[in-house]
Amino acid sequence: MGCVVILLGPPGAGKGTQASRLGKDLALAHISTGDLFRDNLARNTELGKRAKSFMDSGALVPDALVLDMLFDRVARPDCEKGYLLDGFPRTLPQAEAFEKALPRGTTVRALNLRVSDDVLLERLSGRRTCDACGNIQHMLFSRPKQAGVCDKCSGKLVQRADDSAEVVQKRLKVYREQTQPLEAFYAARKNLTHVDGSVGSDEVFAVLRKSVQGPVMEGCR
Ligand code: AMP
Repeated sequence: MGCVVILLGPPGAGKGTQASRLGKDLALAHISTGDLFRDNLARNTELGKRAKSFMDSGALVPDALVLDMLFDRVARPDCEKGYLLDGFPRTLPQAEAFEKALPRGTTVRALNLRVSDDVLLERLSGRRTCDACGNIQHMLFSRPKQAGVCDKCSGKLVQRADDSAEVVQKRLKVYREQTQPLEAFYAARKNLTHVDGSVGSDEVFAVLRKSVQGPVMEGCR
């Protein structure tokens, strides 16, 4: 058995914020492939070095690198009963390879956060990330109490290099071309729920939580 909750949606839709909250609430490991890559970059690993140029330009990291890293991560004991994926899968080959590798009987639910482009651009340009604990804040919506300082751990708040205006446009294009087709993939398997991601964060959270209660979470027990 086991369950996998997949958060889909464009960059800036709130996947990271919601996945972090949902993971704590449901006691599921939160696996963000973006965070795993950033961790590899920070530690200057071989994988980090190979992923860097793709990430900096707003492109996707090649499937083979992503899949190896992901399979490695979900094989760890904290994922035994289930986990929550944020930023994976992002291409059809990733979704297919992942589906093939899942143990039989695993419950899968994809939650697709929908947000208009104007809102995405506003969110991404104001987003600041703590370089120590990964906490996400926003210059308009969750202003740091002290400029440039993380409210949670007092680490340094920085703008991700790929949140610059130019790279964001590229990421949105990549999303439309390569990731959006996954909606049809999960809809065909009757595993997809669309969620309006443009409303307030608490409201989005409540809807997401409700969507995974019942049969989905049963798979994790
Ligand atoms: P994110 O934090 O999810 O926006 O990811 C940041 C960057 O990491 C992306 O723009 C990609 O370059 C890379 N990345 C993260 N997850 C994936 C994935 N599943 N497939 C390919 N590239 C990824």
